[in-house]
Amino acid sequence: MVSRVIPVAPFDLVIFGGTGDLARRKILPGLFRRFCAGQIPPESRIIGAARSELDDAGFRESIREALHEFAASKAGDPDAVQDFLDHLYYVAVDATGSNGWTQLKELMRDDDEGYVRAFYFSVGPSLFGPLAEGLRNHGLAHRETRIVVEKPFGHDLETARALNEELAQHFHEDQIYRIDHYLGKETVQNLMAVRFGNMLFEPLWNAQYVDHIQITVAETVGVGGRGSYYDNSGAMRDMVQNHLMQLLCLIAMEPPAKFDADAVRDEKLKVIRALDPVDPDQIVRGQYTSDGKMSSYREDAENPVSKTESYIALKSYISNWRWANTPFYLRTGKRLNARASEIAVVFKETPHSIFGIDSGRHRNVLSIRLQPDEGMTLGVTIKEPGPGGMRLLDVPLDMSFADALGPEAEEVTDAYERLIMDVIRGNQTLFMRGDEVEAAWAWTDPLIEGWERRGDSPKPYDAGSVGPDDAAFLINRDGRRWRVLK
Ligand code: NAD
Repeated sequence: MVSRVIPVAPFDLVIFGGTGDLARRKILPGLFRRFCAGQIPPESRIIGAARSELDDAGFRESIREALHEFAASKAGDPDAVQDFLDHLYYVAVDATGSNGWTQLKELMRDDDEGYVRAFYFSVGPSLFGPLAEGLRNHGLAHRETRIVVEKPFGHDLETARALNEELAQHFHEDQIYRIDHYLGKETVQNLMAVRFGNMLFEPLWNAQYVDHIQITVAETVGVGGRGSYYDNSGAMRDMVQNHLMQLLCLIAMEPPAKFDADAVRDEKLKVIRALDPVDPDQIVRGQYTSDGKMSSYREDAENPVSKTESYIALKSYISNWRWANTPFYLRTGKRLNARASEIAVVFKETPHSIFGIDSGRHRNVLSIRLQPDEGMTLGVTIKEPGPGGMRLLDVPLDMSFADALGPEAEEVTDAYERLIMDVIRGNQTLFMRGDEVEAAWAWTDPLIEGWERRGDSPKPYDAGSVGPDDAAFLINRDGRRWRVLK
């Protein structure tokens, strides 16, 4: 396959928090890969801005190390690394004070010089508002300026609304790029291509033919170094309200009239608004305990009485014509037995088996894997080969990107680099709009308030297990099973 890389317009991109973990692990390695692919024009500049007192040379050296660690496949070429580093600059800026803003302004080129201007807020959420205000007060926010806002976007509806209002004082909605890196995954976009680019699936994509849908994001890591942040958040806020909800929207939405930002986001918003409230007995919260080798959640969070969930499973319904009475089972957790993210569309059985009971009854499953190996598998039923009568067997029709498209496909999979290029292109389709985020919190808040009011404790589960037993009961009592994660 020949890849077609279309260069973006030249840009000045400022990364607030340029010395932080996310910038070093994802943002700068992603930009480097796009640079190596020839997508970044040579006039472009990437400016790190953070609190530490560094000069350009010091910043470049620290990013050289980061590239070797996090973009190893490309960093073997010293000329390419040096060429990229030559586009990097650094200014020490205090988001909440006056330090550094003038130097930053002097370094940047004006909008009318034809450069795209973007600011990536890769800092803690308490700085999102002050940064937006700082950009406005220091004359850096022009009509064409874009800002990229990291997660978490609010802690609940009230704080999300306040943040939306704060950003809206300085920027228009079409300038604000709220990032959810799940939307940048190749497979997630392929989900839309498969749904809306083929005749095959969409006629079956409804309550009449789909038995249920499972969305799983399972992690093997614990809360580790983010313990204190996480303990104030939990799986519902950290994962369900944003990532799982976004995946659910893309699975469940109606076909937009066209693939543009507002058309897609309008349809996603309708899904969130049609989501039923969830009964307390349809939610299972869990917290990992030590298995003797790995530490417990409470140890990791340094809170011996924590009631925060590191796992959640729930069943929800979407009240509209397409999905009436079709369960959506969502689960996510930390310190589980596998690192695997998957959306599974489980179709109904055929209405009648002509092969008799002994041949078995089967369900087609479309599995959309987000990690570890991005790809899709459609399970189809065939005859077991050989003599001995008609016995049926499920085999996968595998659409693994790496196999189908060759090694290039693997190289373009990082979500951050795609999303940053979308910012430069001015394409908001894969970013969350303010009303979507608020609607998601409006669905989430009553669930959280409910368990806080009741004082519910999460169910313990062993680190390295599949999660709490009650999560299995949640789905088993409906005569269904969670998919086995590998
Ligand atoms: P970090 O603590 O590693 O880095 C924070 C950065 O902010 C540093 O560069 C620091 O110098 C800068 N900073 C702090 N106070 C400042 C101030 N007053 N003025 C200017 N700069 C200041 O954090 P991180 O892990 O890189 O996360 C950044 C953001 O990205 C957070 O909102 C986080 O929730 C989000 N995020 C991080 C990850 C991740 O994997 N690290 C994943 C998803 C989202």
